[in-house]
Amino acid sequence: MNTGTLYIISAPSGAGKTSLVKQLAATLDNLTVSISHTTRQARPGEIEGQDYYFVSLSDFEIMLQKQAFVEHAQVFDNFYGTAQQTVKDNLAQGLDVILEIDWQGAQQIRTIFPDSVSIFILPPSTDVLRQRLNNRAQDDEQTIARRMRDAVTEMQHHAEFDYLIVNDAFEQALMELKSILITQRLTLQKQSCRLKVMLTSLLSGS
Ligand code: GDP
Ligand code: ADP
Ligand code: 5GP
Repeated sequence: MNTGTLYIISAPSGAGKTSLVKQLAATLDNLTVSISHTTRQARPGEIEGQDYYFVSLSDFEIMLQKQAFVEHAQVFDNFYGTAQQTVKDNLAQGLDVILEIDWQGAQQIRTIFPDSVSIFILPPSTDVLRQRLNNRAQDDEQTIARRMRDAVTEMQHHAEFDYLIVNDAFEQALMELKSILITQRLTLQKQSCRLKVMLTSLLSGS
């Protein structure tokens, strides 16, 4: 059986990665989105175990000691990490896995999973990014200012990624993101495994 492909999706906060990934997961099968652990406070409407696993700093440190994370990083003033086991289990089952992580986590994942595919989402402009963070209305003024400052650092790493998508018109960006995953599923390596029986029959001439 094919193992799944691991996708890394990074973007400055507010560029739209969560919205894009949610829509993508609703339209493509055999795809799972990894749920990170974080020490940040849940935003209004965020659900434990669905958006994140919200943990205390001490619980996060215990998980670190147990080497439970395949990658982790400090982003803004909080810690974020991806649990090792679920990622590996899902890939082994043939599911594609998406990680929505920052550039530091992306660097760690590339060394562990050299076959991973990485995608960077850009906002069309700084003004639009600020506007989206304001419109989302889930972070206070100070948090938004912090995220805008860190956006440049995040975007400075765009050249480390395999693909760049500008999230201006949402449907266009979604279509582009979907195309990357579909193309990946059509490679010779994936298809020759998936179509083994059909290819054997075709090549036997019967
Ligand atoms: P949002 O990007 O505005 O939705 O803000 P979040 O607070 O949800 O995420 C903040 C940052 O943390 C994002 O830039 C993510 O890329 C990063 N992040 C989230 N989960 C993880 C993770 O498991 N590992 C790493 N390394 N970064 C993460
Ligand atoms: P991120 O996960 O990168 O922080 P979100 O997915 O939370 O970003 O998006 C930030 C805000 O911008 C949300 O309010 C979302 O509805 C909005 N948004 C996302 N993409 C677009 C787009 N193409 N055009 C307009 N608004 C968008
Ligand atoms: P937020 O707190 O707004 O949900 O996310 C802030 C940032 O943390 C985003 O840029 C997001 O990509 C990043 N992030 C979320 N989860 C993880 C994770 O598990 N690992 C890493 N490295 N970054 C993460």
